[in-house]
Amino acid sequence: MADFAAASGAGQKAGVALAATGLILTVAMPGTGALTATAESNQASAALTGTQPEIPAAASATIDFSRAAVSTTADPDSKLKQLLSAQSVGSIKTSSSKGTLGAPLDTLTTASPFGYRVNPITGGLGEFHRGQDFVAQCGTQVHAAAAGKVTFAGWHPYGGGNRIVVDHGNGLETTYNHLSSFNVQVGQTVNRGDVIALSGTTGASTGCHLHFEVMVNGDVVDPLGWL
Ligand SMILES: [Zn+2]
Repeated sequence: MADFAAASGAGQKAGVALAATGLILTVAMPGTGALTATAESNQASAALTGTQPEIPAAASATIDFSRAAVSTTADPDSKLKQLLSAQSVGSIKTSSSKGTLGAPLDTLTTASPFGYRVNPITGGLGEFHRGQDFVAQCGTQVHAAAAGKVTFAGWHPYGGGNRIVVDHGNGLETTYNHLSSFNVQVGQTVNRGDVIALSGTTGASTGCHLHFEVMVNGDVVDPLGWL
């Protein structure tokens, strides 16, 4: 009985450790099961020889949507330009816009999604969260999501703190908030992937992160429909 309890405890510990390192998520992706070999040899042999092993994950485990900031060798800016010129930006469907903006951080891990949520500062219900919060230590490089012109780089009086707005043309804008410092000025043209700022926690923010917004004709939309 004692042995069983000990073994069970060790198993749980391993599961928690996997979740904490993010390795747990690599096994959920097809074709990468072999990567578990680095985690634990017993599980690795099971993964290689048998059916997909059950993956333990704490309910609180962070879902990691990691991807590279520059993810394609094609010309993503001309793809975006074509999309924006082909039709009114307001009528573009997610199936067309998905993937046309580049990641504003090297690693995108959602801390708080776009849409209605409990306000993290006031605890109030039903607050509309105008952007997507991504995990970012203060001082992390922030990239322009696409080519465009900087139309604002300054203090946002409504909570954004140090904020940059990039106009991509045809009614599409992206904004970057709570920054610790700027690398660009108003009027400057930027290329996709340029480091335009360092992340921070200025303005209405409970800790270091990047609040990223996508605006279509002045209205915020879910950034995940464009990333
Ligand atoms: Zn936010």
